[in-house]
Amino acid sequence: MATTSEPTTRDELQAKYRAERDKRLRDDGNEQYVEPTGKYAHFLDDPWAEVPEREPLHDEVTVAFIGGGFAGLVTGARLKQAGIDDVRIIEKGGDVGGTWYWNRYPGAQCDTAAMIYLPLLEETGHMPSEKYTHGPEIYEHTRRIAETFGLYDNACLGTEVTELEWDDDAKRWIIRTNRGDEMRAKFVAMGTGPLHRPKLPGIPGIESFAGHAFHTSRWDYAYTGGDPDGGLMTGLADKRVGIIGTGATAVQCVPHLARAAGELFVFQRTPSSIDIRNNHEIDPEWFSTLEPGWQREWLENFMILQTGGFADDDLVKDGWTDISQRIRDRVFADPGAQLTPESWIKAYEDSDDEKMAEIRARVDEIIDDPETAEALKPWYRQLCKRPCFHDEYLQSYNRPNAHLIDTDGHGVERIDETGVWANGVHYELDCLIYASGFEVGTDYARRSGFDTIGRDGLKLSEKWDDGMQSYHGMHVYGFPNLFVVSPSQAANLISNVPHNLVEAGQTIAAILTHALDVDATEVECTAEAEQQWVDLLEKFGRRFGNNQECTPGYYNNEGRSSGRRGVLNSAGYPAGPVAFFQYIDEWRTSGDFTGLEFR
Ligand code: NDP
Repeated sequence: MATTSEPTTRDELQAKYRAERDKRLRDDGNEQYVEPTGKYAHFLDDPWAEVPEREPLHDEVTVAFIGGGFAGLVTGARLKQAGIDDVRIIEKGGDVGGTWYWNRYPGAQCDTAAMIYLPLLEETGHMPSEKYTHGPEIYEHTRRIAETFGLYDNACLGTEVTELEWDDDAKRWIIRTNRGDEMRAKFVAMGTGPLHRPKLPGIPGIESFAGHAFHTSRWDYAYTGGDPDGGLMTGLADKRVGIIGTGATAVQCVPHLARAAGELFVFQRTPSSIDIRNNHEIDPEWFSTLEPGWQREWLENFMILQTGGFADDDLVKDGWTDISQRIRDRVFADPGAQLTPESWIKAYEDSDDEKMAEIRARVDEIIDDPETAEALKPWYRQLCKRPCFHDEYLQSYNRPNAHLIDTDGHGVERIDETGVWANGVHYELDCLIYASGFEVGTDYARRSGFDTIGRDGLKLSEKWDDGMQSYHGMHVYGFPNLFVVSPSQAANLISNVPHNLVEAGQTIAAILTHALDVDATEVECTAEAEQQWVDLLEKFGRRFGNNQECTPGYYNNEGRSSGRRGVLNSAGYPAGPVAFFQYIDEWRTSGDFTGLEFR
C-alpha cells in the first residue's frame, strides 16, 4: 500500500490545486484539439452500418426531427402519444441511439442510474437489468422506444443533414441532406447532442502514425476482436496498445484493454476522480412492486436531492445525490446556522475536501506501486471534471502488462510513425486509441454539421455567434416552427440529461397540438420574449462549470474565460431545474403559451 501525501491544511490543499491547474493551462485552450476533417475524416466513418442506397426524397412531413438519440426518440414518442403521427427522424448513424449508437467501446456504461436515465421505462415495459446499465442495453432501449412508438416507419437513417432552410413563402422548412434529399417539413425539431463530434488531440506528428488508430466512439472490433458486451479482445493479445486520455470513456475501457492487450500504455495528462461504483442487478420481484407513475416519482426525487432539496427518501442513492446531500447536511447540521451564500460555500468546500481526500485514499488502498498511486490522485475539486465511478479501473494498473505513463500535466509530446513520445521516452505501439473526447464550446454549426437558415436568410450560427439566444432554450426568434431540444437555457439538469429531453418532448407535443388545433401555419416566439429570457439568464442564470479555478477541461473551456458566449451557452434557469420544470409545466398546461405567437 502506498503512503498518503495529503496536505494538512486547507491553504496547503488549495496551493496544491492551484499548482496542478497552472501546470495544465495552455495558451491554445480549446484550439489544442484537431477537427476530424480532411486527412482525419476517416476517424468519423461509421463502423456499424453499411447504409443501403436509396432514391433522394422530395416529400413533405408534418414534423421532422434531426437526430435519432434520446431527444428525437422521446419527442417522437410524445408526439405520437398526442396523435401527431407524421413524424420523421433524420439520423446520420445507421440506426437510432445517438451517443449509444456510436459509443460501443468495451465497458461503456452510464453513470446515472438506469431507473432514471432510461426514459419511458413504464411506457415500454422494460426493467433495467442493473442499477447502472451497460451500453448495449441502453442502445437496445433506444431501439425499443423507436419500435414501441413506430418511429422507424418514416425514419431516414444513415442520412446527414447538410442544410436547413426556412421557405417563408411556403411556410415550410427545406431539409437538404448528403443523400441528395430535399424534404419539406411544417415543423422541425433538433436534438443534435452536446457531445456529438469527436475531437482528436492536436499532438505534433499525429498524422504520421503508421500503426492502427481509432477514436473510442468508433471502436474497431474488426481489429481488436471482442465485442461491445465485453468479450475478450483476442486480436490485441500480441499487441502493444496505447490509449491517450483518462476521462470517463478511458476509465471504462482501460480494464478491458488491460485484460486483453499484450502490453498496454495509458498516457495520462490529468487523472480522473474514481469513486466506488457498487453496481448491482435489479431484482424483478422488487421491480414488480413499483406502482404506476413510479418513474416520474424517481425522476423528481433524484432531481430534488441532487440540486440540494429535501425528500423523505433517497430513491436513487448514488454518487450524485451523495455529493449534494453531504453539502446540505453540513449546512443544516447546526440548527442555529444562518443560511447564507457563505455558509453554502463553506459547506460545499468542506464536503468536497472530505470527498476528494476519500477518493485519493482509495487510490492508496488499491494501487500496489506507490509512484503509480501518487500519479493517479486527482488534485482538484470533484466537479471540476466529470466525476467517474468504477470498481476495476484503478485495479488495472496492478497488472504487470498495464503501464500508466503519467505526463505530469503536460500530455503526450509527439507522435511518430512507430509510436508515442512522452516525458522524452519513445513508446513503440501497434495500435493507438484516442479517448480524447468530443467538441464542446466550438461553433454550433460546426458541432452539429449543418447550418440553419431562418427568415430573411439569417443563419443560426450568426445569431448564436456571441452565445445562444432562445426563449426557454427551445424557441428562436427569426426561426419559425423550429424547436431546439437541449438542456441549455432551460433546466440544465446535467446529472440526468434525458430528464430534460422528456420534458422538452412533452412541451413540443403540447405546442404542436395547439398549433394544429388552431390551424396555425407559423409558431414563433416574440423578439421581446426571447430578449427577456436571455437577459434573465445572462444576469441570474445558474451556470454549469466554467470555474476558472478548476483544472482545465471541457467543463471550464480549458481554463480560459469564454465570455458572454460561454455564459449564455451554459446558463440554466436561475431558480434551478425543479423550478424550471414546474414553470414550464404551468406554461404549457395553461394553454396561453405566453411569449409564443401562433399565426
Ligand atoms: P474527455 O474530454 O472527458 O477526456 C479526454 C481525455 O483526453 C482527457 O483525459 C484529456 O486530458 C485527454 N487528453 C487530451 N489531449 C491530450 C494530450 N495531448 N495528451 C494526453 N491526454 C490528452 O472525453 P471522454 O470521452 O472521456 O468523456 C466525455 C464525456 O462523455 C464525459 O465527460 C461524460 O460526460 C460522457 N461520458 C459519460 C460516461 C458515463 O456515464 N460513465 C462514460 C463516457 C463518457 P485532460 O483531462 O488533461 O484534458
